[in-house]
Amino acid sequence: MRYEDAEKRFRALVREIDFLENIRSTLSWDMRVNLPLDAAGYRGDSIAFLSGEAMKRKTSDEMNELLCVLEEKPAEDPILESMIKKYRKQYKYQAEIDPALYMEYASHNLQCEVVWQEAKKHNDFASLAPWMKKEFELLAKLAACHGWEKDPMSGLMDEWEPGITRKEMDRLFGELKDFMLPLLDDIKASPVKPDPALILGEYPIPLQEKLCRRVLDDIGFDFRKGRVDVSAHPYTTGNDIYDIRLTTRYYEENFTMAVCSCLHEGGHALTGQHIDPALRYTTLEHMVGAGMNEAQSRYLENFVGRSPEYWEYLLPVAAEYFPQLKKISPEDFYLSMNCVRQSPHRMRCDELTYNLHIILRYELEKMLFDGDITFDELPKVWNEKSKEYLGAVPENDAEGVLQDMHWSSGYIGYFHTYVLGNFYDGHFYEAMLKDIPDFHEKVRRGDLLPITGWMKEKLHKTGGMYQPAEVLKRVDGQELTAKHYIDYIREKYSRMYRL
Ligand SMILES: [Zn+2]
Repeated sequence: MRYEDAEKRFRALVREIDFLENIRSTLSWDMRVNLPLDAAGYRGDSIAFLSGEAMKRKTSDEMNELLCVLEEKPAEDPILESMIKKYRKQYKYQAEIDPALYMEYASHNLQCEVVWQEAKKHNDFASLAPWMKKEFELLAKLAACHGWEKDPMSGLMDEWEPGITRKEMDRLFGELKDFMLPLLDDIKASPVKPDPALILGEYPIPLQEKLCRRVLDDIGFDFRKGRVDVSAHPYTTGNDIYDIRLTTRYYEENFTMAVCSCLHEGGHALTGQHIDPALRYTTLEHMVGAGMNEAQSRYLENFVGRSPEYWEYLLPVAAEYFPQLKKISPEDFYLSMNCVRQSPHRMRCDELTYNLHIILRYELEKMLFDGDITFDELPKVWNEKSKEYLGAVPENDAEGVLQDMHWSSGYIGYFHTYVLGNFYDGHFYEAMLKDIPDFHEKVRRGDLLPITGWMKEKLHKTGGMYQPAEVLKRVDGQELTAKHYIDYIREKYSRMYRL
């Protein structure tokens, strides 16, 4: 086959995959936002069918043949080059998997999640333990198919964030932990005791919706090319830059939750809206790596949205909707919403201790993979570490070891990506301060478009063309380090707690 013909057919095949994935993600969005409860089964089957159709194309003999022709010479178009690399990697990955093993895993995975739901409801970890053990074992076997038999955890980690191994994460988490544990002692000893209840009140949801629209407008979310809806778990979806949808959730007593979730999901949504239109139809519309994607949302949620300057700007705006806020100073409001809480629950903690929640889970994953503890011992060790790192033991297993669904639904070797996003953000923050020296002034005025514009140019525009390490290199030329993030939290919490 001639190169030109192969290129044409390859692009057409990828376009089909792009459509199938977009239809699937729109159906999933509809399931979460609109679908009548009883229709879930039929919808689940339809979504599985579309996934299967996309998979057939990715693993077809035709795909392999086309790739072989295209690999004969370097592609002139860097987008095409990235597409070829992506599909070769996927083809190889699928070809290495033992289909029977995969079927066994897929079926176990579905059931394991259901068992977790029941176990959590009845506070019964013992009923989940054998299922979770098998989930780990099957995933380790699958990782072995790809050559990771000696270090399955790194193999699984590599799938979520290519290029990051246990060794690297051990180094980064070691640095962060050494810094954070003494910092938490200092915070506990500080005379500054912010009142976490100060931000609570009665905030009617229709007014929160209006405020959130302004929050999204400020960061440059384009409502002509996207939507905002409500779902139980906020998330963002969309392959096409002209149709990026995010969801959020409102709590009447605390409007900052919706603001932070709109900034977070808004960060994901901008990643989609900012992509170079030349990447449409290529399936390169998403940045590579769970941590790299999380960095985009966390930057707006935390580095911008949880900064003192942001609340100097947003509190008076919020007071237009909720006049009772006029009585509170931006500084007190900021301290209240950022106060360090050391909750044993990951979703109810603060920006700082969130890191320790992740380190705890990462360390337990390692112990399980290395056979240092059994699955039956997991709740006990969980509670010990919770006491050590967070100063609090969960009330029961439902609130402790059973709080997250991740380990029961295949997200193993995944947790570290949340903090990896923070490490990337540390790099971006440092680089941004060089390029936008009046960053804090801009945030204080709510002038956020230069900030998201920077993200578009430096991070979002190229979508999935580059691996996480390459993206980082293109921003500041550095290797990944925890240092910049540590500098950021040192500055933030020293100022807050007058350390
Ligand atoms: Zn996110």
